[in-house]
Amino acid sequence: MVKSGNYDVVVVGGGFLGLNCAFFCAEAGLKTLVLDQAEPGSGASGGLVGALSPHLPRNWSEKKQFQLDALISAARHWKKIEAISGLPTGYGRVGRWMPLDSERALENARGQEPAALEAWSGEYEWMVGPAPSWMSPEVATHGAIHETLSARIDPRKALASMVEAVRRKGAEIRSGARVLRVEDGIVAMDTETFGAAHIVLAAGMGAGPLHAQVVSGGMGRGVKGQAALLTDPGGLPGQMVFATGLYIVPHGTDLIAVGSTSEQDWVDGLTTDEQLDDLTARAVEVCPSLGRSSVVERWAGVRPRAPKPDALLGPVPGRENIWFANGGYKIGIGISHRVGEMTAAMIQGRKVELPERFKAASHGLTAL
Ligand SMILES: Cc1cc2nc3c(=O)[nH]c(=O)nc-3n(C[C@H](O)[C@H](O)[C@H](O)COP(=O)(O)OP(=O)(O)OC[C@H]3O[C@@H](n4cnc5c(N)ncnc54)[C@H](O)[C@@H]3O)c2cc1C
Repeated sequence: MVKSGNYDVVVVGGGFLGLNCAFFCAEAGLKTLVLDQAEPGSGASGGLVGALSPHLPRNWSEKKQFQLDALISAARHWKKIEAISGLPTGYGRVGRWMPLDSERALENARGQEPAALEAWSGEYEWMVGPAPSWMSPEVATHGAIHETLSARIDPRKALASMVEAVRRKGAEIRSGARVLRVEDGIVAMDTETFGAAHIVLAAGMGAGPLHAQVVSGGMGRGVKGQAALLTDPGGLPGQMVFATGLYIVPHGTDLIAVGSTSEQDWVDGLTTDEQLDDLTARAVEVCPSLGRSSVVERWAGVRPRAPKPDALLGPVPGRENIWFANGGYKIGIGISHRVGEMTAAMIQGRKVELPERFKAASHGLTAL
């Protein structure tokens, strides 16, 4: 076994969460290494959709506030990443339309208005009104919501930009580096080990075996999602559309992403099937002009879900210097820079306000 150097921080996993943790650690001057068993972005992060949308404004909670803070600060963060890397991320606060197809949906949408005003501090709008002409009247029988907080990012461009920014901040990234063992102060692959003053566990759905070495209970069962990339048929505005589980995300190029299925029971997390055809057909029902699009790519991945459907962050129980950065589930891209910022702050011994439900204990995880 070769010992390949000592680091202040070794991050296991190079998805959006791990790369953001590495970025903020490196920016703070910590000697940082990212290890990914394949390539950065080869897990859930390497998908197509990139919708950065808020939770519903009613029944506000600290979890919703955490995400809102992330959505608001995202513009600044991704601009900064672009400036450091010199590469685009595809970020844009384009807003979102949601068709209303019943009296009940309309009533609910109107009921959210005052909550949005309060929770979003009047900075972003939630408006209920007539549906736009490009949306099928059949799915928007009762009008539509238009909100101006949502943004989109191009996941693959953003990852490439992030990788470059992390390197320019001085961190190392190693691909093909599968971590098999973690213990206090040591991260081990099959033939190499690294000394690590701090270890960040950000291995997405690959984290189960590593979590099992440091804590009782592991990861939850991931939820599979399928998405497609279509050519832009023209005639659609640059805003996103959300219609019960379906996202239509124009990427400001000539491509539009459609996602995502939500599958609890799956065998192969990486294959696509007729469920994606159904989803694409629904997208055409909502925006008929998509009927002229061609499918450029089909993609599937598994959303990292911790034991509960909340992020899993903060210290590993019973360990001084091992940290969770996982459980991004359906909103992992959107919250990833806040996860990185907070994890780096905790590593530097600073106090952060981490929502209780994101902590290991809330996920039922206890020290070994
Ligand atoms: C279809 C679909 C659509 C989605 N849409 C959105 C969306 O619109 N907006 C949004 O915010 N989120 C979305 N998500 C969720 C989001 O993609 C994830 O929450 C996020 O990417 C998780 O990032 P991560 O870094 O935690 O994990 P991952 O991206 O899975 O990264 C984990 C990394 O760890 C590496 N790894 C695993 N095990 C090891 C090991 N033992 N040693 C070394 N490396 C290891 C893997 O190779 C991988 O690169 C979507 C997910 C899916 C599947």
